[in-house]
Amino acid sequence: MPLSPSYLDEIVARNPIEDVVSQYVTLTRRSSNLFGLCPFHSEKTPSFSVAPEKGIYYCFGCHKGGGVINFIMEIENLTFREAVAFLAKRAGMDPPEEGRADAAGRERERLLALCKAAARYYHAQLKLPQAQAARDYIAKRGLTGATVTKFGLGYAPDGWTGLIDEMTALGFSKEELLKAGLALKHQTKGTVYDRFRNRLMFPIIDVRGSVIAFGGRVLDDSTPKYLNSSETMIFNKRKNLFALNYAKKSKEDYIILAEGYMDVVTLHQYGFDCAVASLGTALTEDHVTLLSKYTQKIVLTYDADEAGQNATRRALPMLEKAGISVRVLRVQGAKDPDEFLKKYGPDAFRSLLDKSENQAEYFLGALLRKYDLTADDQKVAFAKEATQVIASLPNAVERDVYSRRAAEAAGISADAMMAEIDRARKRLSRTRQKAQERTDTAVAMMHQPKERGLRYDDLRAAMAEEGLLRQLVREPELFGRVDLKEAEFSAPILGRAYTAFRLQYEEGRPVGVSSLGEAFTSAELAHLSGVLQKSGDLVNDRALDDYIRIIRESAKKRENTGQSVEDRLRAAADRANRKT
Ligand SMILES: [Zn+2]
Repeated sequence: MPLSPSYLDEIVARNPIEDVVSQYVTLTRRSSNLFGLCPFHSEKTPSFSVAPEKGIYYCFGCHKGGGVINFIMEIENLTFREAVAFLAKRAGMDPPEEGRADAAGRERERLLALCKAAARYYHAQLKLPQAQAARDYIAKRGLTGATVTKFGLGYAPDGWTGLIDEMTALGFSKEELLKAGLALKHQTKGTVYDRFRNRLMFPIIDVRGSVIAFGGRVLDDSTPKYLNSSETMIFNKRKNLFALNYAKKSKEDYIILAEGYMDVVTLHQYGFDCAVASLGTALTEDHVTLLSKYTQKIVLTYDADEAGQNATRRALPMLEKAGISVRVLRVQGAKDPDEFLKKYGPDAFRSLLDKSENQAEYFLGALLRKYDLTADDQKVAFAKEATQVIASLPNAVERDVYSRRAAEAAGISADAMMAEIDRARKRLSRTRQKAQERTDTAVAMMHQPKERGLRYDDLRAAMAEEGLLRQLVREPELFGRVDLKEAEFSAPILGRAYTAFRLQYEEGRPVGVSSLGEAFTSAELAHLSGVLQKSGDLVNDRALDDYIRIIRESAKKRENTGQSVEDRLRAAADRANRKT
């Protein structure tokens, strides 16, 4: 059953969008809008706008938008009902009626409860006699009891239905175990069995402190070494980082990004409580956005092997692009931070942290190791590659410093090196200029909705429809002068919005997108917010009449082309009759 419009209106009225958003984003006023750095994509200059009078937010960069309820859905990763409940609580209002929670929200709650119960079960198993091998493994890896407790480590016993038996006894169904990624179904027999068997279990906890999945490590040399829960409605590995729930509370102003759980757990044990790891996947744009919410400084400490170094080269530009300053910690004399800490201790690791390299140092260092600089042809190849690295540095002082260093290594004069770098910079700026020209062409397409499903068939009519909606939302009394029908709109989404706004007006409610409820998808609400945030309209009665005229003309034209054969023949006959 849908929530009542008056309840939604009150939720919206008692949670002013600028108040709610400023709990997540620092906003500064620019005329009637507030602007800040978008929490949904990485950026250095603000393109995220909030319009308090219209009750909406809209990002001109990533095109997310909507009212206050959508904002909470997006940023807290909640369903519509959960977001309404969240805002009700925030404003000290009664929660939306129990039992009205939507099915998806209820299912999420169930799966979260199941994962929590499973974490308790695995943790308890670790104390039983059959977990001796797991305890031996923990001891061998040097993990303390405090670390085991902090991370809630556990043991998945070596049976087929240990977890399933326990969880079904607690009232969870096998279906729910499958949906939570904790059980698997046999292809032919159809029987359901535990996904994790005879493994050391690492609960994966989201930033809100809920267990959402597990990673399991083998106790011997069998494969796969690590096994993660499959992706579920509560677990997306591209959007979650292991131990971020702890790292976000760290007093350090940087975050250490490591490759595996074991590195992170060991780092925390040795006092580096700002360490996180991605979960069996390379760093994604979503990870970068998530990280940028908590820090502006990252130290990358991937494994010393080829794969780790490739991952480092890939991650560097992604993080830098998001305005995060990155340093690379090279583990020396060990294969990963875990091994290093056990061999040399935390003080040695701290000195590696101090010596960690910025992007230019890291790349030049890698080149120096790659080439044999005693051979002339290798020197030339080194200088050529180094030129590219240095030319891309934005800071002139940095370019000077590193070109001298590279010139010395290559055994050529600093002037010659600098001249090469200047040439490379000119080439680079030409490439960028061409990219800019391509962007300019793309701007011409910008009036089209970003969502393919919302594309306008008749751009001229759609622009008039957009302008009309903007005027109506700004001055709802104008509805008294507009007698258009939804079917006359060329763009279905704009027609539906017109009808919804009109209903709000007729019921004497505030007119706008913030309380439209569940009848519109997030993409549709984002699009409508973008429409309302466009500027440059003429505000006068002429404009309103012009909009209505253009909309009517276009509707007429569509009607004519949509005529049946009989209609057209009859019209032709009419014309012929009139002539005679
Ligand atoms: Zn954005």
